[in-house]
Amino acid sequence: MPGPTDRFGTRCVHAGQSPEAVTGAIATPVFQTSTYVQEGVGRHKGYEYARLQNPTREAAEANIAALEGGAHGIAFSSGLAAIECLAKVVAAGGRIVSEENLYGGAIRMFTQVLDRLGIEVVLVDSRDPGALGRAVRPGATRLVYLETPTNPLMRVTDIAAAAEVARAAGALLCVDNTFASPYNQTPLALGADVVVHSTTKYLNGHSDVLGGILVLDDDALAEEIHFVRKSTGPVPGPMDSWLTLRGTKTLHLRMPRHNENGMLTAEFLRDHPAVRAVHYPGLPSHPDHALAARQMSGFSGMVSAELAPDDAKRLAEGTRIFRLAESLGGVESMVCIPSLMTHASVPEPDRRRMGITDGLVRFSAGIEDGADLIEDLDRALRAGHTRKDGPAGPRRPARPPTAQTRKDGP
Ligand SMILES: *Cc1c(COP(=O)(O)O)cnc(C)c1O
Repeated sequence: MPGPTDRFGTRCVHAGQSPEAVTGAIATPVFQTSTYVQEGVGRHKGYEYARLQNPTREAAEANIAALEGGAHGIAFSSGLAAIECLAKVVAAGGRIVSEENLYGGAIRMFTQVLDRLGIEVVLVDSRDPGALGRAVRPGATRLVYLETPTNPLMRVTDIAAAAEVARAAGALLCVDNTFASPYNQTPLALGADVVVHSTTKYLNGHSDVLGGILVLDDDALAEEIHFVRKSTGPVPGPMDSWLTLRGTKTLHLRMPRHNENGMLTAEFLRDHPAVRAVHYPGLPSHPDHALAARQMSGFSGMVSAELAPDDAKRLAEGTRIFRLAESLGGVESMVCIPSLMTHASVPEPDRRRMGITDGLVRFSAGIEDGADLIEDLDRALRAGHTRKDGPAGPRRPARPPTAQTRKDGP
Protein backbone atom coordinates (compact mmCIF):
# COMPACT_ATOMS: atom_id res chain seq x y z
CA MET A 1 0.00 0.00 0.00
CA PRO A 2 1.62 3.29 -1.04
CA GLY A 3 2.15 5.73 1.83
CA PRO A 4 3.22 9.28 2.67
CA THR A 5 6.94 8.45 2.49
CA ASP A 6 6.68 7.58 -1.19
CA ARG A 7 8.37 9.81 -3.71
CA PHE A 8 6.44 12.43 -5.66
CA GLY A 9 5.64 10.34 -8.75
CA THR A 10 4.30 7.47 -6.67
CA ARG A 11 2.14 9.86 -4.67
CA CYS A 12 0.77 11.31 -7.94
CA VAL A 13 -0.42 7.86 -9.02
CA HIS A 14 -1.57 6.41 -5.68
CA ALA A 15 -2.06 8.91 -2.85
CA GLY A 16 -5.60 9.03 -1.50
CA GLN A 17 -6.71 5.97 -3.41
CA SER A 18 -7.19 2.34 -2.56
CA PRO A 19 -9.05 -0.44 -4.39
CA GLU A 20 -12.82 0.01 -4.10
CA ALA A 21 -14.21 -2.09 -1.22
CA VAL A 22 -16.91 -4.12 -2.99
CA THR A 23 -15.27 -5.05 -6.30
CA GLY A 24 -11.61 -4.16 -5.92
CA ALA A 25 -11.82 -1.70 -8.83
CA ILE A 26 -8.36 -0.13 -9.14
CA ALA A 27 -9.77 3.17 -10.45
CA THR A 28 -11.66 5.22 -7.88
CA PRO A 29 -15.33 5.16 -8.99
CA VAL A 30 -17.26 8.32 -9.81
CA PHE A 31 -19.71 8.36 -6.92
CA GLN A 32 -22.34 10.23 -8.89
CA THR A 33 -24.92 10.45 -6.14
CA SER A 34 -26.55 13.26 -4.21
CA THR A 35 -27.37 11.26 -1.09
CA TYR A 36 -26.72 7.98 0.77
CA VAL A 37 -29.28 5.54 2.17
CA GLN A 38 -29.19 5.31 5.95
CA GLU A 39 -29.59 2.03 7.86
CA GLY A 40 -31.63 3.69 10.57
CA VAL A 41 -32.29 7.28 11.54
CA GLY A 42 -28.86 8.82 11.98
CA ARG A 43 -27.20 5.42 11.44
CA HIS A 44 -25.05 5.56 8.31
CA LYS A 45 -21.62 4.72 6.90
CA GLY A 46 -20.24 8.22 7.44
CA TYR A 47 -21.87 9.52 4.26
CA GLU A 48 -25.05 11.57 4.54
CA TYR A 49 -25.37 14.05 1.68
CA ALA A 50 -23.11 14.99 -1.25
CA ARG A 51 -22.47 18.58 -0.15
CA LEU A 52 -20.91 17.12 3.01
CA GLN A 53 -19.18 13.96 1.81
CA ASN A 54 -18.28 12.33 -1.49
CA PRO A 55 -15.70 9.54 -1.81
CA THR A 56 -14.44 10.66 -5.25
CA ARG A 57 -13.93 14.20 -4.01
CA GLU A 58 -12.21 12.92 -0.86
CA ALA A 59 -9.79 10.85 -2.95
CA ALA A 60 -8.85 13.91 -5.03
CA GLU A 61 -8.45 16.00 -1.87
CA ALA A 62 -6.18 13.44 -0.20
CA ASN A 63 -4.17 13.04 -3.39
CA ILE A 64 -3.45 16.76 -3.83
CA ALA A 65 -2.81 17.26 -0.09
CA ALA A 66 -0.15 14.54 -0.36
CA LEU A 67 1.44 16.28 -3.35
CA GLU A 68 1.70 19.56 -1.40
CA GLY A 69 2.86 17.75 1.74
CA GLY A 70 -0.15 18.96 3.75
CA ALA A 71 -2.45 17.14 6.15
CA HIS A 72 -5.76 18.44 4.75
CA GLY A 73 -7.05 19.07 1.24
CA ILE A 74 -10.40 20.83 0.88
CA ALA A 75 -11.74 21.06 -2.66
CA PHE A 76 -13.99 23.72 -4.18
CA SER A 77 -15.98 24.33 -7.33
CA SER A 78 -13.34 26.80 -8.59
CA GLY A 79 -10.09 28.42 -7.55
CA LEU A 80 -11.90 31.65 -6.73
CA ALA A 81 -14.38 29.79 -4.51
CA ALA A 82 -11.43 28.35 -2.55
CA ILE A 83 -9.87 31.80 -2.07
CA GLU A 84 -13.20 33.33 -1.08
CA CYS A 85 -13.86 30.64 1.53
CA LEU A 86 -10.43 31.10 3.08
CA ALA A 87 -10.90 34.88 3.19
CA LYS A 88 -14.30 34.50 4.88
CA VAL A 89 -12.96 32.05 7.45
CA VAL A 90 -9.78 33.83 8.47
CA ALA A 91 -10.27 37.50 7.61
CA ALA A 92 -13.93 38.53 8.12
CA GLY A 93 -13.92 41.94 9.77
CA GLY A 94 -10.15 42.18 9.44
CA ARG A 95 -7.42 42.92 6.95
CA ILE A 96 -5.67 41.03 4.16
CA VAL A 97 -2.30 42.17 2.92
CA SER A 98 -1.85 40.85 -0.59
CA GLU A 99 0.64 40.85 -3.39
CA GLU A 100 -0.63 43.38 -5.97
CA ASN A 101 0.14 41.31 -9.06
CA LEU A 102 -2.39 38.49 -8.87
CA TYR A 103 -4.74 36.59 -11.09
CA GLY A 104 -7.19 39.27 -12.30
CA GLY A 105 -10.22 37.54 -10.82
CA ALA A 106 -8.56 37.40 -7.39
CA ILE A 107 -7.85 41.15 -7.53
CA ARG A 108 -11.45 41.80 -8.52
CA MET A 109 -12.68 39.74 -5.55
CA PHE A 110 -10.26 41.48 -3.20
CA THR A 111 -11.14 44.99 -4.35
CA GLN A 112 -14.82 44.72 -5.31
CA VAL A 113 -16.34 41.89 -3.26
CA LEU A 114 -14.55 41.30 0.05
CA ASP A 115 -15.29 44.83 1.27
CA ARG A 116 -18.92 43.67 1.48
CA LEU A 117 -17.77 41.21 4.18
CA GLY A 118 -15.96 43.95 6.06
CA ILE A 119 -12.57 42.77 4.84
CA GLU A 120 -10.05 45.44 3.98
CA VAL A 121 -7.46 44.39 1.40
CA VAL A 122 -4.15 46.21 1.04
CA LEU A 123 -2.16 45.50 -2.13
CA VAL A 124 1.64 45.65 -1.98
CA ASP A 125 4.69 44.53 -3.91
CA SER A 126 5.44 41.45 -1.80
CA ARG A 127 8.93 41.03 -3.30
CA ASP A 128 9.95 43.69 -0.80
CA PRO A 129 9.71 42.22 2.74
CA GLY A 130 9.96 45.80 4.05
CA ALA A 131 6.80 46.83 2.16
CA LEU A 132 5.07 43.70 3.40
CA GLY A 133 6.20 44.42 6.97
CA ARG A 134 4.92 48.02 6.85
CA ALA A 135 1.51 46.91 5.50
CA VAL A 136 0.77 44.25 8.12
CA ARG A 137 -0.88 45.40 11.34
CA PRO A 138 -0.52 43.03 14.27
CA GLY A 139 -4.01 42.22 15.54
CA ALA A 140 -5.79 43.46 12.40
CA THR A 141 -4.03 41.62 9.57
CA ARG A 142 -5.31 38.06 9.49
CA LEU A 143 -3.96 36.92 6.16
CA VAL A 144 -0.94 37.60 3.99
CA TYR A 145 -1.73 36.45 0.48
CA LEU A 146 0.55 36.00 -2.48
CA GLU A 147 1.17 34.30 -5.77
CA THR A 148 4.66 33.32 -6.83
CA PRO A 149 5.45 33.34 -9.67
CA THR A 150 2.80 35.99 -10.25
CA ASN A 151 0.26 36.21 -13.00
CA PRO A 152 1.17 37.57 -15.55
CA LEU A 153 4.48 39.30 -14.72
CA MET A 154 6.23 36.23 -13.23
CA ARG A 155 7.43 38.18 -10.21
CA VAL A 156 8.96 35.94 -7.55
CA THR A 157 8.42 36.48 -3.81
CA ASP A 158 10.54 34.88 -1.09
CA ILE A 159 7.99 32.58 0.59
CA ALA A 160 10.09 31.95 3.71
CA ALA A 161 10.63 35.70 4.24
CA ALA A 162 6.91 36.43 3.76
CA ALA A 163 6.07 33.64 6.23
CA GLU A 164 8.25 35.33 8.83
CA VAL A 165 6.53 38.70 8.31
CA ALA A 166 3.12 37.03 8.59
CA ARG A 167 4.04 35.05 11.70
CA ALA A 168 5.46 38.13 13.44
CA ALA A 169 2.11 39.89 12.92
CA GLY A 170 0.03 36.89 14.00
CA ALA A 171 -1.31 36.44 10.46
CA LEU A 172 -1.50 33.37 8.26
CA LEU A 173 0.37 33.14 4.96
CA CYS A 174 -1.49 31.74 1.96
CA VAL A 175 0.38 31.09 -1.28
CA ASP A 176 -1.39 30.55 -4.59
CA ASN A 177 0.77 27.78 -6.08
CA THR A 178 -1.17 27.49 -9.34
CA PHE A 179 1.65 28.68 -11.63
CA ALA A 180 4.40 26.49 -10.16
CA SER A 181 2.42 23.34 -9.24
CA PRO A 182 3.65 21.14 -6.38
CA TYR A 183 6.03 19.45 -8.80
CA ASN A 184 8.12 22.64 -8.86
CA GLN A 185 7.40 24.28 -5.50
CA THR A 186 5.86 23.30 -2.15
CA PRO A 187 5.06 26.47 -0.14
CA LEU A 188 4.06 24.63 3.07
CA ALA A 189 7.63 23.33 3.33
CA LEU A 190 8.85 26.95 3.07
CA GLY A 191 6.65 28.16 5.93
CA ALA A 192 3.30 28.98 4.31
CA ASP A 193 0.20 28.05 6.33
CA VAL A 194 -2.17 27.47 3.42
CA VAL A 195 -1.69 26.65 -0.25
CA VAL A 196 -4.41 27.42 -2.76
CA HIS A 197 -4.73 26.09 -6.30
CA SER A 198 -6.92 26.67 -9.21
CA THR A 199 -6.95 22.94 -10.03
CA THR A 200 -8.39 24.09 -13.36
CA LYS A 201 -4.76 24.61 -14.42
CA TYR A 202 -1.73 22.28 -14.01
CA LEU A 203 -3.21 19.88 -11.44
CA ASN A 204 -6.06 18.77 -13.66
CA GLY A 205 -3.99 19.74 -16.65
CA HIS A 206 -6.35 18.78 -19.47
CA SER A 207 -8.48 21.92 -19.84
CA ASP A 208 -11.70 20.10 -19.02
CA VAL A 209 -12.44 20.95 -15.37
CA LEU A 210 -12.98 24.06 -13.25
CA GLY A 211 -11.91 23.56 -9.65
CA GLY A 212 -9.97 24.78 -6.65
CA ILE A 213 -8.42 23.45 -3.46
CA LEU A 214 -6.98 24.62 -0.16
CA VAL A 215 -4.20 22.54 1.43
CA LEU A 216 -3.11 23.09 5.02
CA ASP A 217 -1.81 21.37 8.15
CA ASP A 218 -3.76 23.02 10.94
CA ASP A 219 -6.58 20.71 12.15
CA ALA A 220 -8.73 23.43 13.76
CA LEU A 221 -8.55 25.71 10.71
CA ALA A 222 -9.36 22.76 8.42
CA GLU A 223 -12.42 21.97 10.50
CA GLU A 224 -13.59 25.57 10.30
CA ILE A 225 -13.13 25.64 6.50
CA HIS A 226 -15.03 22.34 6.21
CA PHE A 227 -17.83 23.85 8.27
CA VAL A 228 -18.08 26.98 6.12
CA ARG A 229 -17.84 24.99 2.88
CA LYS A 230 -20.67 22.67 3.89
CA SER A 231 -22.71 25.64 5.10
CA THR A 232 -22.26 27.65 1.91
CA GLY A 233 -21.99 24.90 -0.72
CA PRO A 234 -19.17 25.62 -3.24
CA VAL A 235 -18.20 21.96 -3.72
CA PRO A 236 -16.92 20.34 -6.91
CA GLY A 237 -19.04 17.61 -8.49
CA PRO A 238 -18.01 13.93 -8.52
CA MET A 239 -17.13 13.86 -12.22
CA ASP A 240 -14.93 16.97 -11.95
CA SER A 241 -13.25 15.46 -8.89
CA TRP A 242 -12.64 12.25 -10.82
CA LEU A 243 -11.18 14.09 -13.81
CA THR A 244 -8.88 16.01 -11.47
CA LEU A 245 -7.74 12.76 -9.89
CA ARG A 246 -7.13 11.36 -13.36
CA GLY A 247 -5.09 14.48 -14.13
CA THR A 248 -2.84 14.39 -11.09
CA LYS A 249 -1.80 10.80 -11.86
CA THR A 250 0.45 12.18 -14.62
CA LEU A 251 1.50 15.50 -13.05
CA HIS A 252 5.08 14.25 -12.59
CA LEU A 253 5.24 13.30 -16.28
CA ARG A 254 3.61 16.44 -17.63
CA MET A 255 5.50 19.04 -15.59
CA PRO A 256 9.01 18.24 -16.88
CA ARG A 257 7.74 18.84 -20.43
CA HIS A 258 5.96 22.05 -19.39
CA ASN A 259 9.20 23.19 -17.74
CA GLU A 260 11.24 22.31 -20.81
CA ASN A 261 8.84 23.97 -23.25
CA GLY A 262 8.58 27.03 -20.98
CA MET A 263 12.35 27.41 -21.07
CA LEU A 264 12.47 26.92 -24.87
CA THR A 265 9.74 29.53 -25.32
CA ALA A 266 11.49 32.01 -23.01
CA GLU A 267 14.87 31.56 -24.71
CA PHE A 268 13.40 31.93 -28.18
CA LEU A 269 11.55 35.12 -27.23
CA ARG A 270 14.60 36.53 -25.44
CA ASP A 271 16.61 36.24 -28.65
CA HIS A 272 13.93 37.62 -30.99
CA PRO A 273 14.39 41.21 -32.19
CA ALA A 274 10.63 42.04 -31.94
CA VAL A 275 10.61 41.18 -28.21
CA ARG A 276 11.50 43.96 -25.76
CA ALA A 277 11.56 41.93 -22.54
CA VAL A 278 10.85 38.39 -21.38
CA HIS A 279 9.58 37.48 -17.92
CA TYR A 280 10.55 33.93 -16.96
CA PRO A 281 12.09 33.04 -13.58
CA GLY A 282 14.18 30.33 -15.23
CA LEU A 283 16.21 32.85 -17.26
CA PRO A 284 19.38 34.06 -15.50
CA SER A 285 18.35 37.59 -16.61
CA HIS A 286 15.20 37.46 -14.44
CA PRO A 287 15.76 39.85 -11.49
CA ASP A 288 14.88 37.12 -8.98
CA HIS A 289 16.38 34.16 -10.76
CA ALA A 290 18.62 33.23 -7.80
CA LEU A 291 15.65 33.23 -5.40
CA ALA A 292 13.52 31.28 -7.89
CA ALA A 293 16.28 28.71 -8.31
CA ARG A 294 16.38 28.35 -4.52
CA GLN A 295 12.68 27.92 -3.81
CA MET A 296 11.62 26.18 -7.03
CA SER A 297 12.93 22.99 -8.58
CA GLY A 298 11.61 23.94 -12.04
CA PHE A 299 10.07 27.05 -13.58
CA SER A 300 6.87 25.78 -15.23
CA GLY A 301 5.49 26.59 -18.65
CA MET A 302 4.36 30.14 -17.89
CA VAL A 303 6.20 32.88 -19.75
CA SER A 304 5.30 36.45 -20.58
CA ALA A 305 6.90 38.86 -23.01
CA GLU A 306 6.70 42.54 -23.84
CA LEU A 307 6.30 43.57 -27.49
CA ALA A 308 4.97 46.57 -29.37
CA PRO A 309 1.16 46.35 -28.96
CA ASP A 310 0.61 45.68 -32.68
CA ASP A 311 3.19 42.90 -32.68
CA ALA A 312 1.64 41.47 -29.51
CA LYS A 313 -1.79 41.24 -31.09
CA ARG A 314 -0.37 39.83 -34.33
CA LEU A 315 1.53 37.18 -32.36
CA ALA A 316 -1.41 36.22 -30.15
CA GLU A 317 -3.73 35.95 -33.15
CA GLY A 318 -1.18 34.47 -35.51
CA THR A 319 0.01 31.30 -33.79
CA ARG A 320 -1.42 27.98 -34.89
CA ILE A 321 -0.46 25.68 -32.00
CA PHE A 322 -0.53 28.21 -29.14
CA ARG A 323 -4.30 28.71 -28.94
CA LEU A 324 -5.69 32.13 -28.14
CA ALA A 325 -7.47 31.42 -24.86
CA GLU A 326 -7.81 32.45 -21.25
CA SER A 327 -6.55 29.78 -18.82
CA LEU A 328 -3.25 27.94 -18.63
CA GLY A 329 -1.59 24.77 -17.46
CA GLY A 330 -3.30 22.46 -19.94
CA VAL A 331 -1.52 19.99 -22.19
CA GLU A 332 -2.34 22.39 -25.05
CA SER A 333 -0.22 25.52 -25.44
CA MET A 334 -2.14 28.76 -25.00
CA VAL A 335 -1.48 32.43 -25.52
CA CYS A 336 -3.33 35.53 -24.33
CA ILE A 337 -3.06 39.30 -23.91
CA PRO A 338 -3.67 39.76 -20.16
CA SER A 339 -4.60 43.46 -20.33
CA LEU A 340 -7.49 42.66 -22.69
CA MET A 341 -8.38 39.20 -21.38
CA THR A 342 -7.44 37.67 -18.01
CA HIS A 343 -6.68 41.02 -16.36
CA ALA A 344 -9.34 43.18 -18.03
CA SER A 345 -11.02 43.51 -14.61
CA VAL A 346 -7.96 45.22 -13.08
CA PRO A 347 -8.33 49.03 -13.26
CA GLU A 348 -6.26 50.50 -16.09
CA PRO A 349 -4.04 52.74 -13.92
CA ASP A 350 -3.10 49.73 -11.75
CA ARG A 351 -2.33 47.67 -14.83
CA ARG A 352 -0.16 50.44 -16.26
CA ARG A 353 1.72 50.94 -12.98
CA MET A 354 2.57 47.24 -12.76
CA GLY A 355 3.49 46.90 -16.43
CA ILE A 356 0.50 44.90 -17.68
CA THR A 357 0.43 46.75 -21.00
CA ASP A 358 -1.39 45.93 -24.24
CA GLY A 359 2.01 44.73 -25.48
CA LEU A 360 2.35 42.08 -22.78
CA VAL A 361 1.70 38.57 -24.10
CA ARG A 362 1.32 35.58 -21.78
CA PHE A 363 2.22 32.08 -22.90
CA SER A 364 1.33 28.76 -21.34
CA ALA A 365 3.67 26.25 -22.94
CA GLY A 366 1.91 22.90 -23.23
CA ILE A 367 3.41 19.46 -23.65
CA GLU A 368 3.59 19.37 -27.45
CA ASP A 369 6.90 18.90 -29.25
CA GLY A 370 8.99 21.94 -28.34
CA ALA A 371 10.37 22.33 -31.87
CA ASP A 372 6.83 22.80 -33.20
CA LEU A 373 6.12 25.44 -30.56
CA ILE A 374 9.20 27.43 -31.53
CA GLU A 375 8.38 27.18 -35.24
CA ASP A 376 4.86 28.33 -34.41
CA LEU A 377 6.11 31.44 -32.60
CA ASP A 378 8.69 32.14 -35.28
CA ARG A 379 6.10 31.91 -38.06
CA ALA A 380 3.59 34.11 -36.23
CA LEU A 381 6.19 36.79 -35.51
CA ARG A 382 7.22 36.83 -39.17
CA ALA A 383 3.87 36.59 -40.93
CA GLY A 384 1.75 39.71 -40.94
CA HIS A 385 -1.52 38.01 -41.69
CA THR A 386 -1.56 34.44 -40.44
CA ARG A 387 -5.10 33.42 -39.62
CA LYS A 388 -5.81 31.41 -36.53
CA ASP A 389 -8.59 29.24 -37.93
CA GLY A 390 -6.35 26.22 -37.53
CA PRO A 391 -6.94 22.76 -38.85
CA ALA A 392 -10.58 22.75 -37.75
CA GLY A 393 -11.59 24.52 -40.96
CA PRO A 394 -13.83 27.52 -41.47
CA ARG A 395 -14.81 29.77 -38.62
CA ARG A 396 -18.15 29.27 -36.98
CA PRO A 397 -20.70 31.91 -37.77
CA ALA A 398 -20.61 34.76 -35.27
CA ARG A 399 -23.15 34.41 -32.51
CA PRO A 400 -24.69 37.28 -30.63
CA PRO A 401 -22.91 37.89 -27.31
CA THR A 402 -24.53 36.30 -24.28
CA ALA A 403 -25.90 38.57 -21.61
CA GLN A 404 -23.25 39.60 -19.11
CA THR A 405 -23.64 42.20 -16.46
CA ARG A 406 -20.09 43.49 -16.77
CA LYS A 407 -17.59 43.18 -19.59
CA ASP A 408 -14.53 42.71 -17.46
CA GLY A 409 -13.26 39.25 -18.26
CA PRO A 410 -13.63 35.99 -16.32
C1 LIG B 1 -7.18 30.68 -12.78
C2 LIG B 1 -6.54 31.16 -11.56
C3 LIG B 1 -7.27 31.39 -10.40
C4 LIG B 1 -8.79 31.27 -10.36
O1 LIG B 1 -9.18 29.95 -10.51
P1 LIG B 1 -10.58 29.51 -11.16
O2 LIG B 1 -10.49 28.03 -11.12
O3 LIG B 1 -10.63 30.09 -12.54
O4 LIG B 1 -11.65 30.08 -10.30
C5 LIG B 1 -6.60 31.79 -9.26
N1 LIG B 1 -5.27 31.95 -9.26
C6 LIG B 1 -4.53 31.74 -10.36
C7 LIG B 1 -3.05 31.96 -10.30
C8 LIG B 1 -5.13 31.35 -11.56
O5 LIG B 1 -4.38 31.16 -12.65
